[in-house]
Amino acid sequence: MSAVTAPGTVTAGCSPASRFDVARVRADFPALGQLVRGRPLVYLDNAATTQKPRAVVEALVGFYTRDCANVHRGVHELSQRATEAYESARRTVARFLNATPDEIVFTRGTTEAINLVAQSFGRSILAEQDEILVTELEHHSNIVPWQMLAEQTGARLVVAPINDRGEIVLEELERRLNERTRLIALAHVSNALGTVNPVEEICRMARQRGIAVLVDGAQAVPHLRVDVRALGCDFYAFSGHKIYGPTGIGVLYGKAELLERMPPYQGGGDMIRSVSFAGTLYNDPPFRFEAGTPHIAGAIGLAAAIEYLDRLGLGEIGRHEQELLEAATIALAEIPGVRLVGTARHKAAVVSFVLDGVHPHDVATVLDHEGVAVRAGHHCAQPLMERLGLPATTRASFALYNTLEEVEVLARAVRRAREIFG
Ligand code: PMP
Repeated sequence: MSAVTAPGTVTAGCSPASRFDVARVRADFPALGQLVRGRPLVYLDNAATTQKPRAVVEALVGFYTRDCANVHRGVHELSQRATEAYESARRTVARFLNATPDEIVFTRGTTEAINLVAQSFGRSILAEQDEILVTELEHHSNIVPWQMLAEQTGARLVVAPINDRGEIVLEELERRLNERTRLIALAHVSNALGTVNPVEEICRMARQRGIAVLVDGAQAVPHLRVDVRALGCDFYAFSGHKIYGPTGIGVLYGKAELLERMPPYQGGGDMIRSVSFAGTLYNDPPFRFEAGTPHIAGAIGLAAAIEYLDRLGLGEIGRHEQELLEAATIALAEIPGVRLVGTARHKAAVVSFVLDGVHPHDVATVLDHEGVAVRAGHHCAQPLMERLGLPATTRASFALYNTLEEVEVLARAVRRAREIFG
């Protein structure tokens, strides 16, 4: 394990063990240079949303200042440029996930992608008494759409438990699979605890039984190289804004043969081949699932974010973030009264904790006064908080631009919270 550098040590924000030049990376993110409450911003709320590199902002400006037109419709030059950029973004996403472009549906985000699968795929395959399996550590976005679907179809939601470290108990999950299980929906990485789930193994279990798997990848894509073919999942969802891209754009990957069989989610322009009052012929996937004018600029910005990540290399990013995770884990665990929540053996760079006798919101408020942005609350995972017997935690979530010095600032600020409230 790497240790936290001594306070005051200047390493230009660059870990000596890593080739990853974090100082250079930080220069790509205009928002990171600002002062907050008179102190340099330490942005550790990356699981909620990430800051944007200049390359993404410039891609958005480029679209709106040069190529702004609607897609798939016009014969004029600007419309052709917009269409080419939008479809090129789809090809970039496909490459990123090791999928084909016809398997990539643009959505508003992870939430809309999951709702799409629930209402299109789920609704067409589920019958009364069928079962949908989720886990105890899901985000509300991967619980509520399935509850709504269960209500509509008479299917049941079955919950696989976690252990006290915040890991899915595989044997317990397997025990809950039976001939009525139609779908497993689970997070690749937990937003509240950082646990990386054994998705490949769960997909293997599901495949043997003919069960479909949807993976909520919102917290995985910024940290891990994701290959949907290697994972063996049927659906994979993620959001652009958590991967340094714009808000309002997201992705649903669906296996071609499944998308082909699925009915539309919404009706409108672009998702049709022909319309008459006698009947409407739907378009092929992925267009069948993209009714109306899509978030064209968002897709282009997302592709710019993916290209930016590709240039840095997800392997290097992952190593850098693991160093931050280890340093933060050590630094926080050393503080009297701090208890880490979520100690899975395989984690992404998220550290949730509670401080004895101090409400997580109070911790976050003290941190904010020190310029440190973290999240306090239930992290849209109330059933998980209930399982852990906690109303809330404070969560520091790291990104590629965070530094070991920022880990020190975090730890100092938590000590300060302890002094104020202790
Ligand atoms: N799933 C997980 C694991 C998340 O962390 C989030 C965002 N916090 C979501 C789903 C929902 O993502 P979005 O709000 O971008 O749709």
